Order: sequence, then structure tokens, then C-alpha cells
Amino acid sequence: MTMNALNRRALLGGLGCACCAGLVGTAEARIPPASMKPLIQPGYRPTETDEKGMWQQMERVEQEIAGSNLLIKDQALTKYLGGLVERVGGPAAKDMRVYLAHVPEFNAFMAPTGFMVVFSGLLTRMRDEAQLSGVIAHEAGHFLRRHHIRGWRDLRRKSDAFSVLAMGAGVGGAAGGVYLGDAVQLAQMGTILSLLAYSRELEAEADAMGLRLIAEAGYDPIAMPNTWQQLIEEVEASARMRRKRPRRRLSLFETHPAPESRMVDLRVSAQEVRAATGEAARGRDRYLAAIGKHRTMLLDDQVKLNDPGASLYIVENLAKDGWNGLLRFYEAEVWRLRGEKGDDARAAQGYAAAIGYGDAPPEAWRNHGYALLKTGRRDEGKAALGRYLAMAPKASDAAMVRYSLAQ
Ligand SMILES: [Zn+2]
Repeated sequence: MTMNALNRRALLGGLGCACCAGLVGTAEARIPPASMKPLIQPGYRPTETDEKGMWQQMERVEQEIAGSNLLIKDQALTKYLGGLVERVGGPAAKDMRVYLAHVPEFNAFMAPTGFMVVFSGLLTRMRDEAQLSGVIAHEAGHFLRRHHIRGWRDLRRKSDAFSVLAMGAGVGGAAGGVYLGDAVQLAQMGTILSLLAYSRELEAEADAMGLRLIAEAGYDPIAMPNTWQQLIEEVEASARMRRKRPRRRLSLFETHPAPESRMVDLRVSAQEVRAATGEAARGRDRYLAAIGKHRTMLLDDQVKLNDPGASLYIVENLAKDGWNGLLRFYEAEVWRLRGEKGDDARAAQGYAAAIGYGDAPPEAWRNHGYALLKTGRRDEGKAALGRYLAMAPKASDAAMVRYSLAQ
């Protein structure tokens, strides 16, 4: 991770409208999933000048992304994501590529040429494969329904010549900036995508198309409204605990809150496609097998964002499938990192709970040990620190912990 906070801010600011924009305009009627047909066939290539130009620019952007050091380059995980794209990508599945970016935010987006960027923060939050597939299918829906070019043409019809000219310059400049750093490149690509932000109607299309795709692939379609529900609840949880802190401006959902009506439509549509297909899978075991070894990193990234409300919400939401040592540890970490009055005790309680599980990370034992020492329980504290050293003898702080033990 080479990106500093400032660049990340630029990136996310830029991407702010990539997917969930579209609060403008009047409410649309719900689009029945059955009415959504893909508008492109396998191997689709643009034939008209404006779309060809858009593709040329995005092909250069993709080259930048493919070489970016922001990507998580784990072959097995990339292959897994590619497999999901194949499963829920519809007729153009083979034309889509997916990149996994190391950015701890709840986001994913699709480029007009068929490449998709999934943020690691998405993987942090998904409880199962059905949820992840739902987001991927929604993004695939943008591609299959040709939303970028349709949105662009619509915008051009509505805007005056000056603003279109200015935006055209912005797009060209962003794609041509070869000498800029990765983060800046990504931020500029975000600018491109935000210029092409989908209308509310196109978002509703992508939702309906996505629902249809995951249902046809055998997933439980209720996963999609559940993801929206999660996102709404996370934003609320974050705001509740933020209090005096500055508003977090990095989140896609802060700039474009998810309208409740969208979730309501998704729930109705999910019932429709569910009735049509019958049995439905969550794919939770497959999902955990694929992301399992990254979960520590994902949760670590999240708690370090210093957004305790969102972090606790995420941990508790994952724990709906059962608590374990890792989740209890990160629950405790949220309190420790917040460090307000009473948080030490809350953290200590969490570490004590974490070590009750076989999968508790070594750090749970270390922090549990220190918490015990602080309250004067020396023997138990030393035993816990000893356990930490036994589990992680080569930890970077091992010498320091040994020193504490010798005191
Ligand atoms: Zn979208």
C-alpha cells in the first residue's frame, strides 16, 4: 500500500459517483428483472465514433490500472473473482476483466470497455458469495446495458456546448496523463467515471439486470437488497458514533446516500426472481475459503480508518454468521483505537472474549496479557504474554514483550 491518506482522499473523492450516483431526477417506477435483456453480445466492439473514442481512452486507463501497485496481486483470489464474473456476467462474461484494488472502502465500478475494479473494502463487508456476486452482477449490468455510452449521449443532449467541451477536455487529459503517479491516475479515472455517472434510471436497470443474473446463476437474490440494507445501516452507525469528529468524506455513500426506495424496489424484485427459480445458494463456505487468509488484513485496514461506528457495525454484521476469535479481536481493537473514557475496559473485555476461540490471533493474547497486567493480575497477564510469544516468536515486538515479562 503506497497510497497516502491524501491520495486516497483524492481517489475516493473522484470515484464518489462511480456507481451509486443518480439522486437527481424524479423517482422511477421499479424495473422488473424479467424485462432486462442484455444489449450486447459476446465480443462486442463499438462501431460509432463517440463510443470508439471512449473505448480508446479507457483502454489506456486500464493499462495504468493493470500496472498499478494498488492492486492486490493474489492469483488465487483474482481467479476466484474472475470465476464469479464468468458466473454472473451474462453473455459478455468472457469480455470482462476484474482488478482488485487495495482500498478499504465499500466500492466497485465498471468501465465502459468491460473491466471492473473491486475495492478490497467490498470483500471486508460481504458475508457470502451471493452478496459479492450481487455487486459484481450489478456492475456487469452497467456493461451489458451499455450504460456508459447511453449516459454520455444523454448528458450531451441535455448539456450546453460549453460544459460538454470542458468535460471532454477533462476526459482526454485524464487518460493522457502518463507521467502521473498511480493514485493520481486512479483519481483521474474516477473523475472520468463521475462525469459519466449513471442516472437513477440506469442504476435501477443495473439492479434489475444484476438480480436476474444472480438468480439465474443459482444465488439467493435477497443478497442484493441485504447489501443495500447493510450499506444504509453502516452509514448510520458511522454517523452516530462520529459525533464531534469531522465528517468522513471518503465514503461513496456519504456523497451519494442510498435511497431507501431503491432497497424497497430490490426487495420486491428479489421476491419476483426468487419465485421463478426456487432454490438459492449463499455460497458462504466458498467465499470464506477464497478470502479467508486476507480477512486479517481487510479488518486491519478497516479499524485503522478510525471510523469506530462503521467498523463495529461491519464486525457485528459479519458476526451474524457466528462470532470467532478474529472478529472479537477486531471488535476490541476498535475500542482500543478510539481510546475514549471506558474504552480500555471495553477492549479488555473483547480480548478476553477473543482468546476463548481457537482462532484468536496471537495479538489477542498479547493485548489480553497487557490488559491483565494493568489491572494487577500479574500471573495471568504473564501467562498470556508467554502464550503470545509461543504463537509469534518472531513478532517485531517480541523483544519488547520479553522485556515486559522480565519485569
Ligand atoms: Zn451502479
